[in-house]
Amino acid sequence: MLMAASEAVPFAKTGGLADVCGALPVELARLGHQPALILPAYRQIRYSGLPITPMGIDFIVPIGSKTVSGHLLQSRLPGTDVPVYFVQQDHYFDREELYRLNGKDYTDNCERFVFFSRAVLEAIRLLELQVDIIHVNDWQTGLVPAFLKIEYRGLPRYRNTASLFTIHNMAYQGQFWHWDMLLTGLDWKYFNWHQMEYFGKLNLLKTGLAFADAVSTVSPRYALEIQTAAFGCGLEGVLQSRRDTLYGILNGIDEAEWNPDTDPLLAANYNVDTAAEGKRVCKAALQQEVGLPQRADVPLIGMIGRLADQKGFDLVAQVISEWVARNDAQWIILGRGEPIYHELFKQLAERHPDKVAVRLEFSDPLAHRIEAGADIFLMPSRYEPCGLNQLYSLKYGTVPVVRETGGLADTIVDAGEQTLAAGTANGFSFREDNPSALSETLARAVDAWRRPDLWQRLVANGMREDRSWARSARQYLKVYEQIVAGVRSGGVAELASV
Ligand code: ADP
Repeated sequence: MLMAASEAVPFAKTGGLADVCGALPVELARLGHQPALILPAYRQIRYSGLPITPMGIDFIVPIGSKTVSGHLLQSRLPGTDVPVYFVQQDHYFDREELYRLNGKDYTDNCERFVFFSRAVLEAIRLLELQVDIIHVNDWQTGLVPAFLKIEYRGLPRYRNTASLFTIHNMAYQGQFWHWDMLLTGLDWKYFNWHQMEYFGKLNLLKTGLAFADAVSTVSPRYALEIQTAAFGCGLEGVLQSRRDTLYGILNGIDEAEWNPDTDPLLAANYNVDTAAEGKRVCKAALQQEVGLPQRADVPLIGMIGRLADQKGFDLVAQVISEWVARNDAQWIILGRGEPIYHELFKQLAERHPDKVAVRLEFSDPLAHRIEAGADIFLMPSRYEPCGLNQLYSLKYGTVPVVRETGGLADTIVDAGEQTLAAGTANGFSFREDNPSALSETLARAVDAWRRPDLWQRLVANGMREDRSWARSARQYLKVYEQIVAGVRSGGVAELASV
């Protein structure tokens, strides 16, 4: 399997995509497979602390009417033998940020990722790799399945190479003006509403969906939701047409980094048997760190994330002032994002310093300490392809309160009579898109927190779950096998024939 992506930890990261692309190959290797990873050689890769060496392999690819040269570099994923190849072309990738600067996308993003996508296919030939699956991710690599099917599959080395396209967020589609079609070098006949065109524009996410042998996304629920107008961001029709080969596989969590039993950032380590005492210590330490009164007799509600509407901060904004005034509970909010939320939370913290602490920054250590020290984790997202924070919360014994959507719906089981009796309840969730549903559900969680026996059951149910990457990697392997078998028998390929 060759994983092609525009970011992966520990080399370059802007979001959850990087976590998946860095973690999945490691787990596949552990299961006895031979994955490799290919990334652009951004300026940031130099800061990974890992040795990166030139391979002495140069190539040129056509970009519109010109040719552009590139070089291959090599490294390994930390602590493994998994090879990582980098496509070097400094004009495109040696920049301050990955995709945008000062809030504006780079104007040549289409050209940059046409180049990277062509380079991925060339690298297979130049490195003499035997690739059964090219696993591509998001719009930046959406052209890879198209180039594979249209230009490369006729060549012996690529005959048995299948492609899987994974969607990490439907909202980012890589849309460009139609003349950028010329950069791809593909025939205008593919610029039609079934394949590469979307309302007159070139759409690289759609291109990936149309040409990949199979498609996946990062939770089973999101796989269903994106086939509807409410979540499909205009591409629901294309996704419906792919539903026979559309899979939903939840992301795992990196347990080397997120494990309360070993986490060096915490005031105390704990496991499912020692959670009550461990979390008591972590809560007191967190309260002290963020300047809240050290009270054990009130619930501490945590929130971490991008301060954006996607994460449901608009719902929170509608209820939080009243909620804080009326309830004896504490809040710790960590995040950066839209200025209106910065202002709102800052004012709230000023008005209620004994109840609300706010940190408008990106701080991984504080994120760990909130996951450990909070009692309740609030994540009322409007949509959530998978979501990682609710998974960290489960692992750290912090009970999630979520909106029932996407990966949140797949991972959080609302505490009701039946789910408690069955031992599956691990949090609280609500379906309706309104602030009173959020208030009521939060109140339900606080009531439950005041019943320690019940609460300890919820904590233990969450902490005992297996959310490791091993589980997700096994599911990816099954999908790979199905796609490879399909392509070899001509089955899957026909479903999306060009
Ligand atoms: P998304 O990728 O949509 O932003 P996820 O829940 O999938 O949301 O992943 C977000 C990741 O970024 C998590 O690991 C979360 O802890 C982290 N994160 C987000 N905002 C912050 C912040 N302000 N400080 C520290 N970590 C953050």
